[in-house]
Amino acid sequence: MFMKEINQQSVAAITLGCKLNYAETSTVLDMLVSRGWRLSTIEEGADLIIVHTCAVTGQAEQKSRQQIRKVVRNNPGSRVAVIGCYAQLDPERLAGIDGVGLVLGSMEKLDPEYYCLNPEPGTLVRVSPTRTFGDEAMPASSMLCRTEKGRTRAFLKIQDGCSFGCAYCTIPNIRGRSRPVPLELVLERAETIALAGYREIVLTGVNIADYRYGGIGFAGLLRRLEAVDISRIRIGSVEPDLLDDELIAVVAGSQKIMPHFHLPLQSGSDAILRLMGRHYDTATYRNRLEKAVASIPLCGIGADVMTGYPGEGEREFEEMSRFIAGLPLAYLHVFTCSVRPGTTLARQVASKELAPVPHPEVARRASMLAGLGGGIERRFAESFIGSRMAVLFEEGSTTEDGRIRWSGYSGNYLRIDVDVDAVAEGGGFRGEEHVVLVEGIGEDLHLQGRLLF
Ligand code: SF4
Repeated sequence: MFMKEINQQSVAAITLGCKLNYAETSTVLDMLVSRGWRLSTIEEGADLIIVHTCAVTGQAEQKSRQQIRKVVRNNPGSRVAVIGCYAQLDPERLAGIDGVGLVLGSMEKLDPEYYCLNPEPGTLVRVSPTRTFGDEAMPASSMLCRTEKGRTRAFLKIQDGCSFGCAYCTIPNIRGRSRPVPLELVLERAETIALAGYREIVLTGVNIADYRYGGIGFAGLLRRLEAVDISRIRIGSVEPDLLDDELIAVVAGSQKIMPHFHLPLQSGSDAILRLMGRHYDTATYRNRLEKAVASIPLCGIGADVMTGYPGEGEREFEEMSRFIAGLPLAYLHVFTCSVRPGTTLARQVASKELAPVPHPEVARRASMLAGLGGGIERRFAESFIGSRMAVLFEEGSTTEDGRIRWSGYSGNYLRIDVDVDAVAEGGGFRGEEHVVLVEGIGEDLHLQGRLLF
């Protein structure tokens, strides 16, 4: 039974996890607003509060549960909907949390009708198995919702799911196999984002370079997006074995596609990469990385690495550290391995085929990699001191001496700050792109510069 008085209803949302989740939450809110719901904030409270969960690690699940309980506790009069990855993975557990009225899985979360159903006593659970997810992904973008207006960048979902089946990863169990958002829907949303005055589109999905719709692959999609009247197109994460010469050439030849990739490495030991079931070895990774850096001017490439993988001994860890130290990277994101239920790795650990690495040792290795990463990031940033960089400014703050510090990203994803006199500032630089002469680096590894008008 659907609610009659929807236009009295207010909705607010909290999103955990990745850019894809943010794009999807915004799309849900926008669909509800277009049905007459009033958009509210968590602070103001709302009739319906949506918690968009994450389940990429055990820690992410814990954070999701904590957030749900907090929302229920602080909003006794609200209906609480729990959606997304954790809801898909373990709906019973989340439905068992007192105060949760609705649990929606990966597909159902993007169907506004479920939020409009009349609240019944107890918890309504709607989660369909991933095998039923079909061949196309639902579109989404983080732009259309009114509260998003202040942002300079919008996330655009182009793909969902993954068919790579890495041994440690639970995402295919949650988001299903790799599926494209139809090309015309991607282009339509990109046009809408540009018309709304955004300067940068960030492409998001689970395995975006695995995009294929009809005969159009990822490089083909990028060429079509270049026709959209927007300043910048930023590519999210690209699987190393999908960073082929065609993709490198498209980025190298473009003024709009930013010279920045995120290239998950995971391990710098071939033995561990094989255990993980990754689709490349260290030689391939180095080859793709060096080819991109050599071909794309100013290119900045960051990497994810995971330590503490069951079976990772001191020798494999040292191999990884040496390998990373020798790569022309821009930054490093360090993760520790989380054994996820329902994965090949969980079965290998349960059968004692692989032995977990003791926590203190995992912590020691992670801190060593973080140190290595700090050095890599400083070295890359410092190599641009003295350069002129185009910066898309996002936010301003007041410095201790009363000036305005404007901060934004360069094309190759360096964070750059400029301090200006309050008087000289005028309407502010949010959403504006300006050329900056880079003069130094701060404690936070942000580059500092001077505006060149
Ligand atoms: S590529 Fe591997 S780690 Fe990444 S989403 Fe797919 S299965 Fe998971």
